[in-house]
Amino acid sequence: MDRLAEKTALVTGSSRGIGRATALRMAGEGALVAVHYASDENAARETVRLIEQDGGRAFTVQARLGVPGDVHELFLGLERGLKERTGGTTLDIVVNNAGEQTAAGVAPEDITPEHFDRLFAVNAKAPFFIVQRALALLPDGGRIINISSGLTRVANPEQTAYAMTKGAIEQISLHFARHLAPRRITVNSVAPGITDNGSPVFDIPEAVEQMAQLSAFKRVGEAVDVADVVTFLATDEARWITGAFIDASGGTLLG
Ligand code: NDP
Repeated sequence: MDRLAEKTALVTGSSRGIGRATALRMAGEGALVAVHYASDENAARETVRLIEQDGGRAFTVQARLGVPGDVHELFLGLERGLKERTGGTTLDIVVNNAGEQTAAGVAPEDITPEHFDRLFAVNAKAPFFIVQRALALLPDGGRIINISSGLTRVANPEQTAYAMTKGAIEQISLHFARHLAPRRITVNSVAPGITDNGSPVFDIPEAVEQMAQLSAFKRVGEAVDVADVVTFLATDEARWITGAFIDASGGTLLG
């Protein structure tokens, strides 16, 4: 299908996991995709290779988020990549996907101010300033999709600080949806539940079985389960959805 033909997309954190699956899906729909990563250049190149193997178009952009100058560096690489391939810097779709979590087993009593600040810098501050910077590149009818988490609706004390950052990113969707409606730019949040991102825990059958019980469908999500939802929101078919919280958790929030 070609639902994103002639479109350009930035997917932050698309060297692996949900971001990679989203980059692949969007490229499969015809978009030129900027594959952003922080440190794993080989993984980002692999995302581009997989896209090109299927006849799609993509390029890598490196920038560590959560440090001074992060968004500026990201957009320098992004604009250079877009100019080389399209002759301009139009950016139709922004997916704020890159994010960091608190390691498992850390009680809220043990969260340090430094860790708290870091989570907010990467998961909330960077997405806000990415949106702010993208405003000059987004055409009428553009798309902004912010990846939240089911943890804004389900309690998990170990992830209190992380969930707070996801509550914050949902506010970007709500308020920018109103701000950008005159330009027909939609802004939405997508909340995954537990999703196999290729990390080692998903190689432990007992752990996967336990996590699977949280979903109404009794399985963990695949990255592509979320990527399909995100990609839909980027298409013209989703033009009437803005400021929404989309539960992409396989029914985990049903309780
Ligand atoms: P992964 O941990 O698999 O990948 C994270 C991606 O973000 C990588 O591409 C990584 O780049 C990039 N990244 C991480 N930190 C930074 C940083 N400081 N600066 C720039 N890039 C960074 O992510 P998931 O696929 O698991 O998650 C994607 C999103 O979905 C996140 O926002 C996460 O919070 C959310 N989510 C995930 C769930 C899950 O179960 N997987 C559940 C609910 C929400 P590099 O590899 O180069 O370091």
